Amino acid sequence: MRKLLFESLIRLPLTEPAPSPSDTAMEELTASIDEAARRRLGRSLSIRAVDAGSCNGCELEMHALSNAFYDIERFGIRFVASPRHADVLLVTGPVTKNMREALERTYNATPAPKWVVALGGCARDGGCFAGSYAVVGGVSKVVPVDLHIAGCPPSPTDILRGLLALLEHVNTGGRAS
Ligand code: SF4
Repeated sequence: MRKLLFESLIRLPLTEPAPSPSDTAMEELTASIDEAARRRLGRSLSIRAVDAGSCNGCELEMHALSNAFYDIERFGIRFVASPRHADVLLVTGPVTKNMREALERTYNATPAPKWVVALGGCARDGGCFAGSYAVVGGVSKVVPVDLHIAGCPPSPTDILRGLLALLEHVNTGGRAS
């Protein structure tokens, strides 16, 4: 106990260093998304997150977008509670068999135009859960995917870059990858 107490006094904090991109770079990136959303959709971007069986690593990075550092709501990009209010479904996880129907129903409940973004390696092809009896093995096996954002997990900046790429791509009617 005494050893533990002593170590806690001399050990450095375990918190990670602050994210590297400067405030200005992040503001420019987020403002570009807002501008592209208004150009393409005539309004700001609404995102419905769908956890289709992830380990929560991808969620942690996604939730960081709403923290005081990234604060994406100030640019009009917001997470919504219902797929009926969403433009984009941001799906994480390898799609467990138990989540398959929920994902299909969420997709069907989202009004067009809508886009599906598969977030992380698991959402692409099952990732480290691929081959498990309990997973379908990727979002595209259940609903059409417009964009995949790679990483395990992708950083908040990667997610923002992906969303911008999606918005820049949508008016061509194609799918990004
Ligand atoms: S991609 Fe990595 S962080 Fe994301 S759900 Fe899969 S294992 Fe977790």
